[in-house]
Amino acid sequence: MSAEPLLSVDAVDSGYGDTQVLRELSLSIDEGEIVSLVGRNGAGKTTTLRTIMGILNPTSGTVRYRGEDISMLDATETVTRGLALVPEERQIFPELTVRENLQIADHGGASDVDSLSIEEALEMFENLNARTENAGSSLSGGEQQMLAIARALVGGADLILLDEPTEGLAPYIVQDVMDIVRELNDRGITVLLVEQNVHVCLELADRNYVINQGEIVYEGTAEDLEANDEILDRYLGVT
Ligand code: ATP
Repeated sequence: MSAEPLLSVDAVDSGYGDTQVLRELSLSIDEGEIVSLVGRNGAGKTTTLRTIMGILNPTSGTVRYRGEDISMLDATETVTRGLALVPEERQIFPELTVRENLQIADHGGASDVDSLSIEEALEMFENLNARTENAGSSLSGGEQQMLAIARALVGGADLILLDEPTEGLAPYIVQDVMDIVRELNDRGITVLLVEQNVHVCLELADRNYVINQGEIVYEGTAEDLEANDEILDRYLGVT
């Protein structure tokens, strides 16, 4: 593992117009890690992902990727460097088929990690493979989540930002999504996982950051966080 983190966010302020949401937020992710950012509704998790991706730019502080300052790039530029955001709303094209959804993601991204071919992605996601000619709108919530992740892989992502991938899914589908996250990590993809569900983080993540009111209030391994009743109770409403 290189000494330099794959991604480092350093003292970032960010928000919407006059509304500041993130306050001197810092976090870092090494290549190959699964790192979680966990916190309650409105804590600033999505805003953090948008700021890393370049949908928002920080008003101060820096975002570095592979050592390069990407703070002021927009999302069309960060995506070609290997970042991908899978948003909470999944944003697949409902009127296009599963295969077409993958085809339009296949832009031959210039990232260091080889992108998956459409056939390789379909092999990885059995449910999608059985539905290649079905419209995106006909997929279940879990399948749409899989398709959104598959699109990021076909697009050549080497860091995937996952925004609440288990939100609204039945428990057995949550398990499938967690298996997929593990599998893509086994393939060398680094993951920043945003969740309200701390149990998903504790099971998947190498390290966890807890966010509250736009600030990181805790960082620790699953073992440390699981044993920390005060943090669990105070910031995550779990005891
Ligand atoms: P959730 O789980 O509800 O998505 P979150 O932790 O992802 O929560 P954010 O979506 O980052 O939280 O929101 C953080 C704060 O920013 C909230 O107070 C929210 O109301 C505010 N906010 C989010 N989007 C906008 C926007 N487009 N304009 C103004 N304020 C916004």
